[in-house]
Amino acid sequence: MSKVGSAACEALSRLGAVLPVDPAALSDGQLIDFVGRVEAASRQIDALKLAAARAVSERSVDGAPDSLARRLGFKTAAGALQGLTKSSGKDAAKLIHDVEDLAKLPAVEEAVMDGRIGREAAAAIAGELKKAAGKNLGGVDSEELQAVQTELVELATSVGADEVKAKAAEKAATLNIMAVEDKAAKAMGDRFFWIGPTVDGAARVSGLLPAGHAAVIRGVLDGLSNPKGKKTVTFTPDADQGQVPADVRTRGQKAADHLRDVFATAARSAEIPDMGGDHPTVWISTTAAELHSGAGLAFYAGASEPVSVQEAQQAACTGGIQTVIFGENGDVLNLGLSVRGFTKRQRRAIALRDGGTCVIPGCEVPAQWCEVHHVIPHQDGGATDVCNGVLLCWFHHHEIDSGPWQVRMRHGTPEVRYAAAGKVIDWHPVGDGAAAHIKAGSPPGSGARE
Ligand SMILES: [Zn+2]
Repeated sequence: MSKVGSAACEALSRLGAVLPVDPAALSDGQLIDFVGRVEAASRQIDALKLAAARAVSERSVDGAPDSLARRLGFKTAAGALQGLTKSSGKDAAKLIHDVEDLAKLPAVEEAVMDGRIGREAAAAIAGELKKAAGKNLGGVDSEELQAVQTELVELATSVGADEVKAKAAEKAATLNIMAVEDKAAKAMGDRFFWIGPTVDGAARVSGLLPAGHAAVIRGVLDGLSNPKGKKTVTFTPDADQGQVPADVRTRGQKAADHLRDVFATAARSAEIPDMGGDHPTVWISTTAAELHSGAGLAFYAGASEPVSVQEAQQAACTGGIQTVIFGENGDVLNLGLSVRGFTKRQRRAIALRDGGTCVIPGCEVPAQWCEVHHVIPHQDGGATDVCNGVLLCWFHHHEIDSGPWQVRMRHGTPEVRYAAAGKVIDWHPVGDGAAAHIKAGSPPGSGARE
């Protein structure tokens, strides 16, 4: 940056020539002239403030051992300016932001530095262009950006900052096509997904996904929450028993459960390549005594906090998660191998019988994202057979021992019962799958049922 202030000399001496002054004593003509001189000088002072702030910023590069801000005892250039000028943190930060923006808009910077336009108008131009072209004002063809800057500077010499802002927004919109590519490139660079450590029984998740990534995930979750083809309601309670109770989960809770359903499906899938000769299995460990008593703790592999043993019981029911059961002396009783998961053929048969979704009325989680529940638990001698397995989504599987819904097998087809808050809907067959239609004497898809 070359020297600044040649224009300032003239403006300041023009103001100095009429000082000291009592504005109240001026004629109208003199007052108008005085206001003009003050504004011109004020713009020059603003320009000098920006030039000074820029030099402080350039000498205060973060982390540099000889950073000016650090030598003055501050962390950042804005902190140093705040300390030196006794201004507010907000003002100092705004000054540094303006410096950074103007460095990317040379035509606007030049106009501010020689006092042709004010700092307010310059900030309006930078703000609107950033909205369209991204924070870094990158991606926009430099000639195009140069032309827009020149036009807006020209306008700002004759109209107020508000009008400049409106025109800048209009001009910025024409840069939008280029900016979209810039935004996509930035999103790809910034993308991340993070799942934190388990603390107090929960792990925090955060991330930033490019629009396409988000759309895929949103599409799957929305599809599970708001299915297009509503399953035929086969569970029709008698009039005095009321309606099938609504799902009590919030939207967010449902999304959390569905996210898990999808990942559990991936963990089960044999199509995912083996990793180091092993399937991408989640391991959960507990002791035989705890597993059988239903009271005690289990651990997910790699987690420092335990979960309830019920989680291990549920896991033992399903594929994708292997349960390691330890004996009293810490010996491995089994690697869950005796807890045989349902095979693909068995899952297909069960899905066909149960109508292709979780068997709980009103739940639309499709078969491929469901777990197969042992109606008679494996540890109580329940077989891993089609006639002892029903489709349940993770949430309803999780709830089946304690929640309002119960499930049993009768003549080879599942029945459910609801009991909560004094309301009971007694055992009733579910599913509009093949078996139900065969029983009812009509082919699948005709919708006719007794
Ligand atoms: Zn369900």
